[in-house]
Amino acid sequence: MSRKQAMKQYNQLYKRSWPVSDELICQCCGNSTNLEWDHCPAITTAHLFINNKKIKFILVLLCKECNLLLSNLLIPDFPSRFYYVKDELIKKYEKNLINERGENVSDFIDSEFDCSAFSCLLGRISFGLLRFDQLSDNSQIILEKITVSGITVMEHLINSSNGKLIHESNLIEEDEVYHDEDGDLPNLNKEEVPFELVTFLEGNRFSLNGFKLFLHDNYIYTQSGYNRFYDENVIWHDYLPVHPEKFFNCDWNIFLDVFLISDKGSEFSLNILEKYITYDFVERREKLSLFDLEDLLNDLKISTKEEYNELIFALGGRDIIAGIPDEPENFYEDWILW
Ligand SMILES: [Zn+2]
Repeated sequence: MSRKQAMKQYNQLYKRSWPVSDELICQCCGNSTNLEWDHCPAITTAHLFINNKKIKFILVLLCKECNLLLSNLLIPDFPSRFYYVKDELIKKYEKNLINERGENVSDFIDSEFDCSAFSCLLGRISFGLLRFDQLSDNSQIILEKITVSGITVMEHLINSSNGKLIHESNLIEEDEVYHDEDGDLPNLNKEEVPFELVTFLEGNRFSLNGFKLFLHDNYIYTQSGYNRFYDENVIWHDYLPVHPEKFFNCDWNIFLDVFLISDKGSEFSLNILEKYITYDFVERREKLSLFDLEDLLNDLKISTKEEYNELIFALGGRDIIAGIPDEPENFYEDWILW
């Protein structure tokens, strides 16, 4: 769904919220300049959470930099977004954090954001932070590092705490999420599988192909990307395997050859489709030119109307279906293929 459509349909669900401070400051880092309202969850992902009562639709004031760090990520709840931003800031400014005098790091920082000075950074990272154990392992490693003045970044942070601590009840998840003992096999035998997962499942469990499509749709391309996604999306822990390579008994090579499968079992390469029908294309709701469509069909080895209809079936409700017409012979003046 395009951003424009999503705004029209879901924007009225969002209510302004002040989870950390009721001042006009970024709710992730305390910055008071370049403020913007952030949709949480991202407006383009709202449809995924519309039936999830655990997710609150809120507008949160963020500074431009924090907002950019989040962009359209699929992180629906504010606490996870909050910790994600902290992790990203710590990673981005690692060199500045361990060198409080700012020596030899001037080439490292975006000139667009000038809050790289040591004390300013400490303030932004410590702002609202209650639980260091919610930060990623990588962040914790950085915070343990000794700075030029001989104490750890963590000690600096604790000393700099600016008294604007978050209300703990806003940050901590209320419900502990159920987990299997071995933590690996997702429990898909529930009666209610979230509807946004249904298209990826066979019966009550992920097929390998469905899982690949799920990864593709969520822009997950690496194992570490998956781990991150998994950590950040607690609501799906019941459905996603912790170790996909064990669950599916395959290599972590699962991005090669992602196929859409038609009702008659024909396979169409999603990678080929996305080569022609790009995200920009879908956003603009435009159709491919006749020339590009012919190349696409050629690459997909489609030459008859029946095969084309199978492709339409396989595309189902996916966004990229917007890029091609249902009946190309009626859509293009110079159509000659069948
Ligand atoms: Zn911020």
